[in-house]
Amino acid sequence: MGIAENYRNKLEEVSAVCTECGRDPESVLLLSVSKTVGIEGVRSAMEAGASAFGENRPDQILEKHEAFPDASWHFIGNIQSRRIPDIVSCATLIHSLYQGRHAKKIDRAAAALGKVQDVFIEVNVSGEESKSGVAPEEAFDLVQLCTGLPHVRVRGLMTMAPAGDRSVASETFKGLHDLFDDIKGRLGQADAQFFTELSMGMSDDWREAIAQGSTIVRIGRAVFSENFVE
Ligand SMILES: *Cc1c(COP(=O)(O)O)cnc(C)c1O
Repeated sequence: MGIAENYRNKLEEVSAVCTECGRDPESVLLLSVSKTVGIEGVRSAMEAGASAFGENRPDQILEKHEAFPDASWHFIGNIQSRRIPDIVSCATLIHSLYQGRHAKKIDRAAAALGKVQDVFIEVNVSGEESKSGVAPEEAFDLVQLCTGLPHVRVRGLMTMAPAGDRSVASETFKGLHDLFDDIKGRLGQADAQFFTELSMGMSDDWREAIAQGSTIVRIGRAVFSENFVE
């Protein structure tokens, strides 16, 4: 199957799973993670209706944003301090913030561009050493640090589940949702009103993520790979 057909199928499946879970299909964004394809791959997905894309490399997000400035471009990769101005120049959302020093630098870069940068705090819920993200017990402090930065707005939390076991993935997503509720309850009203999103779920575990309240599923292979089998 081609990219356009994959995208249309996924969109339908996401919508069906929302309905099964008693959720409004409009409440979940299918973010097409285009990191493995070039401009033509993005174009195919756009022709099928995709308008929000995820990238994990600064050079790629810059290039694709320049090619398709009207799409929304989400940065989901490892943040290198020196690339922060580039990322901020084109990202609608940064999903992968977990260090206070990066938050401060994002604030300065966004101020210079006259924008407020929307971010998610990446949390290492599962505690796997290979995963990046702040520890759950440190997440609130980082959110609070960000709420003190005028050009950074924390919109929610992001996590990656351990690969392989879907019941473990489900537990991980539940853990992020519980942490989200806890943090939201501790925020003042002015900040809580923007704290609305849960970025969780990828090609192998997006169904579990939607069942646990995800509002953004980040799907790469299931859209862009020729022969992905769920
Ligand atoms: C690559 C990537 C994805 C998409 O993964 P797939 O398994 O291909 O769907 C989602 N989130 C992050 C952070 C990624 O790096």
